[in-house]
Amino acid sequence: MTYKSFAQLNDAIVHCTKCPRLVAFRTRIAKEKRKQYRDWEYWGRPVTGYGSPDARLLIVGLAPAAHGGNRTGRVFTGDKSAEFLMRCLYAVGLASQPTSTRRDDGLVLNRGYMTPVLRCVPPGDKPTARELANCRPYFQSELQLLSDIKVILALGGIAFKSCLKYFQSIFPITLKDYPFQHNVHYRMPDGKRLVGSYHPSPRNVNTKRLTYEMMVDMLETVKGIL
Ligand code: SF4
Repeated sequence: MTYKSFAQLNDAIVHCTKCPRLVAFRTRIAKEKRKQYRDWEYWGRPVTGYGSPDARLLIVGLAPAAHGGNRTGRVFTGDKSAEFLMRCLYAVGLASQPTSTRRDDGLVLNRGYMTPVLRCVPPGDKPTARELANCRPYFQSELQLLSDIKVILALGGIAFKSCLKYFQSIFPITLKDYPFQHNVHYRMPDGKRLVGSYHPSPRNVNTKRLTYEMMVDMLETVKGIL
């Protein structure tokens, strides 16, 4: 399906029920809530992308967190990964503020757009191949609407592979020619840069697999390309 506008695409996304397991999970989490957020009305639906339609940078994550995006209704908003990522984006001038806490917090990305490859929170952060495939057309439609993108920054191996699958749907590329690692850069057949990064998850940050300095260094390089 071709969407003529973000409004049309996002309307289709938030009403999507293609994955029964994820629909049940996102609804249950939204009902049960985490104690510290018991006063929140959880979003409990698929999340859309967020940012500027004339973005040059597309930041791609895996999926909304159970008590992050699934609670706040915005990608990379209201969890530890968002906290770390936004601090780094702000440090290099790619975000207007160092925090991302709720949909109406005023965050502006500097010619940037953030989106997940899977719109609904998966149990244990582990989507099935079918669920990723179900959701992929939304990502493809987003990229069709974001016509100024120069760099795609994929956070984590699953997001990176999903981006490669997007390119593979258009060009005859072989996935194994693009191994994933942190701060890896590839020029794709249409001239876009695909950059791989470790995911800014608490696990990666707490174990120092991904440090603030590593992320900021990489974002400085990305900014230079933009
Ligand atoms: S993960 Fe994507 S395809 Fe599956 S129900 Fe959510 S929005 Fe729909």
